[in-house]
Amino acid sequence: MIRNIQTIIPGIATSDGAGVKLRRSLGGQNQVRLDPFLMLDEFSSNDPNDYVAGFPAHPHRGFETVTYMLEGHMLHEDHLGNQGHLKTGGVQWMTAGRGIIHSEMPQQVSGAMRGFQLWINLPAKEKMKAAGYKDIQVDEIPKLALENGGAVKVIAGAFIQNGKDVQGPIQGITTSPLFLDVHLPSGAEFEHRIPKELNAFVYVYEGELEIGAPSRSVPKQAAIVLGDGDRFKAKAGSVGAQFIVLAALPLHEPIVQYGPFVMNTRAEIEQAIDDYQNNRFVVS
Ligand code: FE
Repeated sequence: MIRNIQTIIPGIATSDGAGVKLRRSLGGQNQVRLDPFLMLDEFSSNDPNDYVAGFPAHPHRGFETVTYMLEGHMLHEDHLGNQGHLKTGGVQWMTAGRGIIHSEMPQQVSGAMRGFQLWINLPAKEKMKAAGYKDIQVDEIPKLALENGGAVKVIAGAFIQNGKDVQGPIQGITTSPLFLDVHLPSGAEFEHRIPKELNAFVYVYEGELEIGAPSRSVPKQAAIVLGDGDRFKAKAGSVGAQFIVLAALPLHEPIVQYGPFVMNTRAEIEQAIDDYQNNRFVVS
């Protein structure tokens, strides 16, 4: 069964960090989310004033942050002494777990800075695990040519081509995320399995796309939540389309969020604030 459009969550212009302009769809107005996805930000600007201030040191607890750089260069540093360069086409998958304090600062003063930051929740039993992260460079991400002239990058989960599974570099996450970046030329169709147990959404960042059967055109720069089914079907408009596809198993657990802390109860949030204020994020 083909998944049709269930809800459209527009990306609303906002800013975060020290004044980075971005569009927030999931996690924006009324904190509308799609379990286990908590937030999706798209940053995209050619104007350095929109991004140079970056994201100075700030904490996280209880979930994972995934940064996908379409264009640009940022330096990540954390309180554990880790350092990583996020460059064009690369991904950083960070497990905040029990706590991390990090900064994400642009390493450019001109040109385009473009990409996404996605927050994925952790199950209750993993919220206090040790922090960790994985930097994935562009050449570690499988890029597959499609017969219709399009291409797919497999960031997480598996893409099935000619009956063969092509695995992305991110594996072993409890919510079994699928993360694809799909480019289609004018009029090209795309169809792929998304198991019915997974919650799924699509975000078009360039061009025009129709989704579902019968197909409906969708707005750009919005999280398009998909309804029930086990297959995703889309067709690019006359100018082609570039979009990301995200899917993962829902956790069905209560969520209490206070800014960069996402836990299951109010008491756990109070503990997170207390731990942060008393330097217990730094001493592990
Ligand atoms: Fe952060």
